[in-house]
Amino acid sequence: MTERYELQCRECRTSVGNRPSSVCEECFSPLEVTYDYDDIRTCLTREAIAQRAPGIWRYRELLPVADEYEATLPIGFTPLVPAPQLARHFRSRRLFLKNDCFCFPTLSFKDRVVAMAMAQARRFGFEVVGCASTGNLANAVAAQAARAGLRACVLIPADLESAKVVNTQVYGARLVRVAGNYDQVNRLCSQIADAYHWGFVNVNLRAYYAEGSKTVGYEIAEQLGWRLPDNVVVPMAGGSLITKIKKAFDELVKLGLVEPKPVKIFGAQATGCSPISTAVKAGQSDIAPQKPSTVARSLAIGNPADGHYAIQAITGSGGWAEDVSDKEVVDAMQLLAATEGVFAETAGGVTVGVARKLFAQGRISPDETTVLCITGNGLKTVEALQGRLELPEPIPAKLAAFQEHIADEAEAVAV
Ligand SMILES: *Cc1c(COP(=O)(O)O)cnc(C)c1O
Ligand SMILES: [Zn+2]
Repeated sequence: MTERYELQCRECRTSVGNRPSSVCEECFSPLEVTYDYDDIRTCLTREAIAQRAPGIWRYRELLPVADEYEATLPIGFTPLVPAPQLARHFRSRRLFLKNDCFCFPTLSFKDRVVAMAMAQARRFGFEVVGCASTGNLANAVAAQAARAGLRACVLIPADLESAKVVNTQVYGARLVRVAGNYDQVNRLCSQIADAYHWGFVNVNLRAYYAEGSKTVGYEIAEQLGWRLPDNVVVPMAGGSLITKIKKAFDELVKLGLVEPKPVKIFGAQATGCSPISTAVKAGQSDIAPQKPSTVARSLAIGNPADGHYAIQAITGSGGWAEDVSDKEVVDAMQLLAATEGVFAETAGGVTVGVARKLFAQGRISPDETTVLCITGNGLKTVEALQGRLELPEPIPAKLAAFQEHIADEAEAVAV
């Protein structure tokens, strides 16, 4: 097997090879995947990438998979689309949406990370894969485990949206609902991972899993014509996605695939669970854990594993973090749908709501290229819109009834 990657401690830089572990035994800091960039520079060119199928595997030298690994799912390469009508609301002139509402196969960016964990589950010979999830991860693990012929055991907080529960069970995954919040579920999963020989995608396989998020960054750069944006706004739960988008941009510069350019990284949270944005706003470099209470359940992690690194990525780039109330989240979901025809889940409402604030505060300048990361599909969180959209009474199947019904529509002109 030809492997061009291995785990290294983020702090003491000890290299530990490849193994199902996410903490350094020397200093207990998180492990991270590193690559031989000098080697990759010689083979990975824009032209080579352009000849490959659209999807995350076109950047495979920069992902933790062996050369021989046969990937079967066309994950990622989601649309990067201009958002001119939303831009007008923000008085922005160059606004884009990176739209992972359409990520294959389970309609959120978590399909990208799970693909990495699955490759490693195979490599380490795990027959059961598990995860602690706020919903989307559960969906992605259940689907990809079914596809890979592995058993899945998924632990979730008991109060998740029904679509996320159904979208896990339908694949035949074992679903364990825990009476507690995500942070309690996560602690339980660490104990299970110690007691059972299982691959937990965000516990003992976390270092590998997290690398999948880099593909969002690679795609944004490639889809902008191999250019980096000026600003990117990213929703944060555990804080992994935002740090990996930064890592992706840095790698592309290091490999000479894009011109060096400062990119401001902006983090978005819901006020009801905002440990990272609170720390950024207070100028602190570490997290004070919170007890989550927000409609944005996919982001409800009160003690984010990568919080410290997310803060570094944000402040080091000259960016900022903000948070929005549940009402602002749902307002923003409706604004995004009504302006751009994109129905995002609550996390998308968080991103758009925060972006609106950042433009209003003058932290993002209107003439710069700004990308909003829309990470999951609105069909998964329809509960959030309850009480917002009135279900009209049925009318008789008669033209006169219809005319009466729409009498208030000024534009409805009879022919
Ligand atoms: C998990 C998730 C995030 C944030 O991911 P982290 O890497 O944990 O910060 C953002 N959006 C959605 C829809 C998610 O499911
Ligand atoms: Zn260490």
